[in-house]
Amino acid sequence: MKRVAVAVAALLAAGCMTTEPPAPEVKLYALDCGSFDLANTGMFSPNHEYDGKPGKLSDPCFLIRHPKGDLFWDAGIPYSMVTPAGSASPTKTMRDKTIPDQLAQLGLAPADIEYFAISHSHYDHIGDANMFAASTWIVDKAERDWMFRDAMRGQPVFSYYSKLEGATTTLIENGADHDVFGDGSVTMIAAHGHTPGHRVLLVKTAGAGAVLIAGDMWHLAEAQTLRTVPANNTDKAETLASMDKVEALARDNKARLVRQHVPEDVAALPAFPAALE
Ligand SMILES: [Zn+2]
Repeated sequence: MKRVAVAVAALLAAGCMTTEPPAPEVKLYALDCGSFDLANTGMFSPNHEYDGKPGKLSDPCFLIRHPKGDLFWDAGIPYSMVTPAGSASPTKTMRDKTIPDQLAQLGLAPADIEYFAISHSHYDHIGDANMFAASTWIVDKAERDWMFRDAMRGQPVFSYYSKLEGATTTLIENGADHDVFGDGSVTMIAAHGHTPGHRVLLVKTAGAGAVLIAGDMWHLAEAQTLRTVPANNTDKAETLASMDKVEALARDNKARLVRQHVPEDVAALPAFPAALE
C-alpha cells in the first residue's frame, strides 16, 4: 500500500514537471510598410456611416522570430502606387521605408526569412511579396486559387506576387488552422470573407502574452463596434461570422488585438527595431 502511494506521488511529481513545457522565445516586430491618408473613408461601408469622414490608416508588415525560424507576414504597399509629393489627391498612399532596410537593422535580409505568409492578397498587403519567393509560402488554398485565377493574370497587382507561384508552398485546406512551428505559439487562423482565404495570425509570446494580428477584419476602429462590411468584401455573411470568430479567439486567449490598418493598434506595439516578446 505504502509502495503504491510512493509510486503515485512520483507519477504526480513527474506529471507536474512535464505538463507545462517552457514557452518558446517568440519575438514580434512591426515594420512600417506604408500608410494612407484619406479625405473620405466612406469606401469602408456601403451604408454611409463613414461618408465624408477623413481617416489615417497604417499598413504594417510583421516579422515573427521563433527559435525554429522566421515568419514574415504581409508585404506592404507597392512603391508604384505611392502618391507623388505635392499631389492634391484626396487619397494619399505613402511608403517611405523598405523591408530590406528595416530587416538590416536586425542583421537580416529577405533571403534569411524561412516562411512567408499574407493576411490576404489585396495590393496593400503584397507590394513586396516577390521578395520572399525563396521562402516557404504558407497560404490558404482558397486565397492562392483566387490570386492565380485567369482573371488576375495581366492585372497590375498580379506582378507584385507573381513569383510566389513557383515558391515552395505549404497549402492550408478547408479552413483549417495552421500551427506554423508545431508548438502552438504561431497559428494562422481562417477568417474568410474579406477575400476568399483571408487569415489572421495568433502569436503567443512568453512575456507579453498573446497578440492577434487581425489583417483587414476591420479597417477602422469603429468598424468593430458598428460591424460594417465593405462593399468589396467577397462574402458579407462569411465576414460577419469571421468577426465573431476573431473576437472570441481574442477573448479566449486574452490576446491584444492588432487591427493592421488602425494606427493606434500598431503604435501600441514596441517601435521597430524593438520587439514584443
Ligand atoms: Zn488592407
